[in-house]
Amino acid sequence: MKVLTDEARATIYDSIRDIKDFPKEGVVFKDITTLLNNPKAYKLLMDHLEARYEDFNLDYIAGIDARGFIFGAALADRLNIAFVPIRKKGKLPSTTISEKYTLEYGIDEVEIHLDAFHEKKGVRVLVIDDLIATGGTASAAVNLVNKSGAICVESCFIINLTFLNGSEKLDSPVYSILEI
Ligand code: AMP
Repeated sequence: MKVLTDEARATIYDSIRDIKDFPKEGVVFKDITTLLNNPKAYKLLMDHLEARYEDFNLDYIAGIDARGFIFGAALADRLNIAFVPIRKKGKLPSTTISEKYTLEYGIDEVEIHLDAFHEKKGVRVLVIDDLIATGGTASAAVNLVNKSGAICVESCFIINLTFLNGSEKLDSPVYSILEI
């Protein structure tokens, strides 16, 4: 369904587990493994994503390492389009381009294969991840897609921790299913 009912949204919300103090004290980790382990919630989510994006004329889905791969690859298959992984530094085997971003302590980097979009210009890409917090990872991912000569037409998250204002950092429209 293109627009989620309150009931469907609640089923998805209730399927995600909160783990307190993981990976460190003070963080409430949103654990989506319980969503994946719940076929009804996972199907509702994927049916909604398919309905939302089937008219977007997308050429590629780019998923962010690692939980973005799960939703992104499943959605790409449903839309019959290609999937591209955006990975943490040092994981992709061929020639890459990279983008650094700032963490609470230090700097991290994401990479994409130089030929990921078959070196075509102006292709339409959806970036997807499970969650946006500060927006550092996703804004680096969107910048990478745009640096590749493609167009990031939207960034999609299952969960948006809106109190961190991460979506304001992104150079693309943002769609999130659950705002917390
Ligand atoms: P950020 O760059 O701060 O927006 O962090 C986003 C990335 O970190 C995503 O890949 C998330 O999967 C992960 N992440 C950050 N905070 C959480 C959280 N509270 N629960 C689950 N994953 C998180």
